[in-house]
Amino acid sequence: MVTFLDLHAAYLELKLEIDTAVANVLDSGRYVLGPEVEAFEVEWADYCEARHAVGLANGLDALTLALRALEIGPGDEVIVPSNTFIATWLAVSKVGATPIPVEPDPATHNIDPNRIEAAITSRTCALLPVHLYGQPADLDPILEIASRNRLRVIEDAAQAHGARYKGRRIGAHGDIVCWSFYPGKNLGALGDAGAITTDDKALAERVALLRNYGSRQKYVNEEAGVNSRLDPLQAAVLRVKLEVLDDWTNRRRAIVARYAEGLTNSDLILPHVPDWAEPVWHLYVVRSSERDALRARLTGAGIETLIHYPIPPHMQEAYAGLGIAPDALPLARNMAQDVLSLPIGPQLGLDEACSVIAAVKAG
Ligand SMILES: *Cc1c(COP(=O)(O)O)cnc(C)c1O
Repeated sequence: MVTFLDLHAAYLELKLEIDTAVANVLDSGRYVLGPEVEAFEVEWADYCEARHAVGLANGLDALTLALRALEIGPGDEVIVPSNTFIATWLAVSKVGATPIPVEPDPATHNIDPNRIEAAITSRTCALLPVHLYGQPADLDPILEIASRNRLRVIEDAAQAHGARYKGRRIGAHGDIVCWSFYPGKNLGALGDAGAITTDDKALAERVALLRNYGSRQKYVNEEAGVNSRLDPLQAAVLRVKLEVLDDWTNRRRAIVARYAEGLTNSDLILPHVPDWAEPVWHLYVVRSSERDALRARLTGAGIETLIHYPIPPHMQEAYAGLGIAPDALPLARNMAQDVLSLPIGPQLGLDEACSVIAAVKAG
């Protein structure tokens, strides 16, 4: 049996350190914000080559508060990828703005910069690229289009912890970068958690204000904020896991090297990595015109696979109100039919990767 991602094995590998860190928080008497959250914010900003980080309750809130901090709201349009996890779109909807989908470059699965300008209108306020599957989007043309059209850039980096674009870590290329530490992410907490990073001090302060009821001083509220504070217990877990993040990313890379070598002569389309990208392989997504048959065969061989994502946002009932026809975004629609995510994670053995390869080739 090859599991897709073994979160319990990840915990067991660091059990001693995590249990100690959690016990220290329990003993500290500080259960909301405080020194553990502040220490993680400093370390996370540093890791991301950004000046500031603000710890939040989850990734969806990171996106939502980033949009709010940039004053994006009703009547505004935000350009989003047509193929992404629905949270990217939901954040835009949550602030009352409209997500405007742009199709991907099929080679990288990331938003195609060449298609962005055609989607810009007088209402467009921001571009919201996603670094999907752990591979950076092509940020230079995106930033150039944004500056030429006076748009803000919000990055959804929920799958890209530690990835580099042209040598620099994802973390502050755009105005603000949004992170999720959902347990299954490359840097995952033991519960929900999130953050933003930015080089803009005023923006960081605004998000910090919004996450805490819009209050700097207790019972004095400057604006109608929310409660979206990073839990210090999760901050303590994240600090332990941050120390091994690069090591665990390298293990993912070793699995990918094995997959790439073993699957080159198969019928699958393997992920393409542009020479400026250093992906962190949150997911290893292949494409197959016989995807469902392949998936059934792998399941039969005891190999767990997943589909990221089976229904694109524009075809979800949640977005029926936008009235976008399925065929209006054919690349996103087709991808949902032929993508397949193979098992990957720091605790996956190279021998297990070899059994995946063997099972794919046995077809
Ligand atoms: C996980 C994820 C989110 C949402 O993060 P949560 O912490 O689950 O709210 C947003 N965008 C993308 C691309 C994600 O993968």
